Amino acid sequence: MVLAQLGGSISRALQQMSNATIIDEKVLNECLNEITRALLQADVQFKLVRDMTTNIKKIVNLDDLAAGHNKRRIIQQAVFNELCKILDPGKPSFTPKKGKPSVVMFVGLQGSGKTTTCTKYAYYHQKKGWKPALVCADTFRAGAFDQLKQNATKAKIPFYGSYTESDPVRIAAEGVETFKKENCDLIIVDTSGRHKQEAALFEEMRQVSEATEPDLVIFVMDSSIGQAAFDQAQAFKQSVAVGAVIVTKMDGHAKGGGALSAVAATKSPVIFIGTGEHMDEFEVFDVKPFVSRLLGMGDWSGFMDKIHEVVPMDQQPELLQKLSEGHFTLRIMYEQFQNILKMGPIGQVFSMLPGFSAELMPKGREKESRAKIKRYMTMMDSMTNEELDSSNPKLMTESRIMRIARGSGRQVHEVMEMMEEYKRLAKIWSKMKGLKIPKKGEMSALSRNMNA
Ligand code: GDP
Repeated sequence: MVLAQLGGSISRALQQMSNATIIDEKVLNECLNEITRALLQADVQFKLVRDMTTNIKKIVNLDDLAAGHNKRRIIQQAVFNELCKILDPGKPSFTPKKGKPSVVMFVGLQGSGKTTTCTKYAYYHQKKGWKPALVCADTFRAGAFDQLKQNATKAKIPFYGSYTESDPVRIAAEGVETFKKENCDLIIVDTSGRHKQEAALFEEMRQVSEATEPDLVIFVMDSSIGQAAFDQAQAFKQSVAVGAVIVTKMDGHAKGGGALSAVAATKSPVIFIGTGEHMDEFEVFDVKPFVSRLLGMGDWSGFMDKIHEVVPMDQQPELLQKLSEGHFTLRIMYEQFQNILKMGPIGQVFSMLPGFSAELMPKGREKESRAKIKRYMTMMDSMTNEELDSSNPKLMTESRIMRIARGSGRQVHEVMEMMEEYKRLAKIWSKMKGLKIPKKGEMSALSRNMNA
């Protein structure tokens, strides 16, 4: 999970506070101290953290809270809102539209993950039905074109570049021209990330920008630099009209929270984050679902986005209906497992689902988790329709469990373990009962309510 450590520390602080019999000033202060420590460890700027805790204290005036008010809910909500405020970078200057040709230019320092991100961005849109194309205007770094070519070929995305032409401006202009003629609706231009002098790099960026007239300039930055991201984002913004930012390597760095908040402080809109080296380790950045996920409350809208990608259109309403009824049968669990296996990296998908992440998917053990899911599915294949469609675990008597174990060639204790997993998930998902299922891309109150 993205920033698992930071999210875990904040959730634990909130949980400890919830366990207290009375929530008084001392308990609140302890909770806020814990949150402060976690944020500073993630390299979030001290001033931002201090302002955040001051604001929370202002909102949560314990003396003013009338008896009967749920203090815990109010504090949790305040923490949620303040984290959203710290991380909210605003909206991008331009959003490409499918079917309408747009030119998007990528800028950033060498090593930030720019070339990888260009392909991820193209691949993400291609999966959603766009017609993207990649242009390599990095003539400075030997091997840049090869790298782009390799990535593009793997993802079956058309590309343009040259081994002999040394003028990046010319290549960029020719590439854009070529793909415009081919009716590509998303033309992505990768620029150089390194020069002998910073001034030369910025000058080249300006020239490529003039020649290609991009609708959007995306600045790519590495999250491992933490709060130093503030100065880097400012420097790029001053030299070229940065309309959006993509923050990479959010998978492996404790300083990711610091980088995100620092970029937000420069009012540069983060639109995606990179969460790994693979093509689909790339996520839309939307502040509320992100914070919700950070606090272990799931990311309903991110999950819905994935569901819309992999579940056939005609089956979506039925699945959503079943979920909103809070009726979590073994068959639904089976279907969810099928979906999850199709959705790409399961760690990414699980972290969006309340209850799924920590237990079923220990961090860094993707392979084992996949194997576990497949094992569960094999056992479920030996169940009768009555067993699959019942939401009453009592139906699973000893003799049924033994029959399922025999039928699937597994041990009895494994079937029992799966039933325990089912009961745990059913309990969490039963809280969805009666709640409105959000439409695609909508943040719902659902995930917040899950923890209430
Ligand atoms: P460029 O010089 O800015 O074009 O950077 P590259 O695209 O060549 O990436 C530099 C390194 O960072 C490569 O090894 C990439 O695989 C890696 N990388 C890029 N994005 C991510 C990410 O989100 N997570 C991780 N872990 N590695 C990444």
